[in-house]
Amino acid sequence: MASKPAQQLMDSFGRVHTSLRISVTDRCNIRCFYCMPAEDVQFLPRADLLTFEEIVRTVRIGVSLGIRKLRLTGGEPLVRRDLPRLIQQLTAIDGVDDIGLTTNGLLLADQAAELRAAGLQRLNISLDALDPQVFRKVTRRDGFEQVQQGISAARDVGFRPIKINAVAIRGLTEDQLIPFGKLARETDTVVRFIEYMPLDADSAWERDRVLTAREILTRLEAEFGPLIAESSAERDKKQNASRQLPLLHSESGGQAPARRYRFADGRGQIGIIASVTEPFCSSCDRFRLTADGKLRNCLFSLEETDLRGLLRESADDSAIAAAMQSCIAAKLAGHGINSPDFQQPDRPMYSIGG
Ligand code: SAM
Ligand code: SF4
Repeated sequence: MASKPAQQLMDSFGRVHTSLRISVTDRCNIRCFYCMPAEDVQFLPRADLLTFEEIVRTVRIGVSLGIRKLRLTGGEPLVRRDLPRLIQQLTAIDGVDDIGLTTNGLLLADQAAELRAAGLQRLNISLDALDPQVFRKVTRRDGFEQVQQGISAARDVGFRPIKINAVAIRGLTEDQLIPFGKLARETDTVVRFIEYMPLDADSAWERDRVLTAREILTRLEAEFGPLIAESSAERDKKQNASRQLPLLHSESGGQAPARRYRFADGRGQIGIIASVTEPFCSSCDRFRLTADGKLRNCLFSLEETDLRGLLRESADDSAIAAAMQSCIAAKLAGHGINSPDFQQPDRPMYSIGG
């Protein structure tokens, strides 16, 4: 692990930022209703996407300011050509401790081995339903079988644990909770339920459709018995043991958004990301780089910092570092979803990078 940087990315509330989520494309091969419009999506022109060289330079500068943990996302990151080459380049940066990727899994069967060989350490697969018909309702496309094949391939090439992220939506996925609970109990899969957030392209989000963390727990406990919340210390110990890595800086403070629970009978565990009903903003350590090179200090930010402009105007590293620092300095205390004057950002999730 790299030593403490001379400068940090600290906001005005004292939160130190060590985790960067990088969107590598806004394109996607499905159309989840909570993220994308059904048809006629206006994707970015290719020339607007950051090149691998631009991403790598940004990360190098970020590492000098304390970034230690990266996650690649999108859009669907696996549709970006040559992604393993980017992963190799990022892995080679001294100071990057951890690289993860979030994918819908459709292209994973073909790419899992290459991703692993390139140095990818962690993989989250998004799958909201274990029933193909519900999958289709959410994604407005076919592909359930391909995702299953992708999950098997990921397991075969050694990704452990397999983490599944499932957005929980009232009126659509309640009846998936128990099957997911069984999956978590009967296999080595970690299932993490995510509360539905107001980041859809159609601005049709309604609070009533958020299946809350409390309801998810109640339903699972009614079926499987008590769930016990894991302390962050327990979680760090397990995560690092499973990866055989030293304790990660950004995990030791307990900033991970998923609250973990284990079943009292010792069989399996689940996570819940309660961004709406139990926001974790006060310990947030992450920020985002969009595919077109805008830096965002929060998913729900209404403002962005144009890094691509700087990168393409031949700005020197110190100017880019200063832009990163002012972006973080301007971060608000919280995302504001629960305040009456909340305003949904213009960019939907696929265009920000989840
Ligand atoms: N395409 C990849 C995937 O689906 O895993 C990566 C990008 S996707 C935007 C990242 C994550 O954001 C996925 O787990 C997805 O389910 C989640 N997501 C997208 N829109 C969301 C919303 N409105 N509320 C909660 N989670 C959302
Ligand atoms: Fe695509 Fe991921 Fe958005 Fe679904 S959540 S539409 S898979 S980017």
